[in-house]
Amino acid sequence: MSKIDIIIVGAGYAGITAARELIRAGKTVKVLEARDRVGGRVHTQQFDDFYLDMGGTWVGPSQDRIYALLKEFGIETFKTYDEGKSTMLMDGKLKTYKGLIPPLPIPVLLSLDMAIKKISKLSKNVDLSEPWNTPNAKYWDSMTLQTWMDKQMAFSKAKSMFTIASEAIWATHPNEVSMLHAMFYTKSGRDFDTLMNVKNGAQEERILGGAQSLANKIIATFPPETIQYNAPVKAITQDGDGVEVIGKDFSYKAKKVVVALPPTLAGRIDYQPLMPANRDQLLQRIPMGSVWKCYAIYDKPFWRENGLNGLSASDNGFVSVTFDNSPKDGSLGIMMGFVLANQAKDFSLLSPEDRKEAVLEQFTKFYGEKASKPIFYIDKSWAEEEFTRGCYAGVMPTGAWTSLGKHLREPVGNIHWAGTETSDVWNGYIEGAIRSGERVAKEILGK
Ligand SMILES: Cc1cc2nc3c(=O)[nH]c(=O)nc-3n(C[C@H](O)[C@H](O)[C@H](O)COP(=O)(O)OP(=O)(O)OC[C@H]3O[C@@H](n4cnc5c(N)ncnc54)[C@H](O)[C@@H]3O)c2cc1C
Repeated sequence: MSKIDIIIVGAGYAGITAARELIRAGKTVKVLEARDRVGGRVHTQQFDDFYLDMGGTWVGPSQDRIYALLKEFGIETFKTYDEGKSTMLMDGKLKTYKGLIPPLPIPVLLSLDMAIKKISKLSKNVDLSEPWNTPNAKYWDSMTLQTWMDKQMAFSKAKSMFTIASEAIWATHPNEVSMLHAMFYTKSGRDFDTLMNVKNGAQEERILGGAQSLANKIIATFPPETIQYNAPVKAITQDGDGVEVIGKDFSYKAKKVVVALPPTLAGRIDYQPLMPANRDQLLQRIPMGSVWKCYAIYDKPFWRENGLNGLSASDNGFVSVTFDNSPKDGSLGIMMGFVLANQAKDFSLLSPEDRKEAVLEQFTKFYGEKASKPIFYIDKSWAEEEFTRGCYAGVMPTGAWTSLGKHLREPVGNIHWAGTETSDVWNGYIEGAIRSGERVAKEILGK
């Protein structure tokens, strides 16, 4: 390989988008990826008769960059199945309902609706590119989302519903999320309804062939030998001339490096000279969420025959929400359940057999006896993964945005930062990862 201009650490959607833009601008790029595949937090696992998206899955309105790439690479999307009634298990009682309004007492519904509208309204004032400059930023950053919820909603049932939605959005208990971050993230993804919903929301569509298929197609356009797999980067040194990026049995020099990793992992690289204190302090403050994705496969989506759409929510048990993730043609029934936040931490302590039993027990409560007998079951926790350590993304706790936020994207010498956590739009999502890759390429090209 001729002299390298830019090294990219990590071949998730952020890293490969940055690589694509830099290669298109005529730069020589080397991508170093720890795993034996591209896609990072997006992994489409192939089985004999079907595939499963074990990580990032859905796309939705206003995610313009991923839709543009899907179009460019000829990849189709299809609607998430949501015809029929949703299911709710609250206080041990199972109910089904049509539309978006759950069967709760009117005062509870009003309180919940007001909270949802209010967080969307508050979020409108957030400065997305500099959240620390939002009006009253310090006030909002001094409280957790839970503190705000407690002030906002008097009814415990309203809070339970809001908690289920929040955990599904952040994969973290609301007592771990800064209210300023919650407002930032809400605006970043348009509004709270968009984040929560299937129709007109972030869960509206799936990618035919799986969410990793786009990443596979993008890297097929790169010059040979651009990507080196099984190459975890351990250290980065820099001086006035450029950078050296070092792993167990490799070392490459270049003018610049892009670190396209979740913040937690970016903080584990050995930098020489040391990272500035404020940058390192920031990286000590951005924990990843906790989520298990649990799949049961059936010979058909039998719940549809009972008029159910496969969407459910529960305030009890390990699985808090489910989605119908069957193939586009419905030739198999694929039920997906999320185990989220603190439930995910407890779930990690169970044996594989106990995990399966707990999930199927909950699916059976939602969808009846047939749910207890899948032809296949699989689950995955991204916190166990050496090269991710949690999901869906890094989440800002109280105080982090206002005290250290400006160090999130600021380059350090010849080291530049990408990754979905650095995006101001659709932060935490595949769209955010793509936008961060495009932003960092522009930063390097001086555009
Ligand atoms: C269970 C789950 C469900 C999700 N659902 C959705 C969804 O439905 N829709 C959506 O838009 N988003 C979803 N997300 C979030 C989405 O997947 C991420 O926001 C996005 O993929 C992040 O991309 P990235 O490139 O920023 O980071 P990553 O994908 O984490 O990429 C980082 C890359 O760096 C590599 N790496 C790590 N350490 C090193 C090292 N030391 N040296 C070299 N390489 C290294 C990793 O292997 C990885 O390939 C979900 C995530 C999960 C886990």
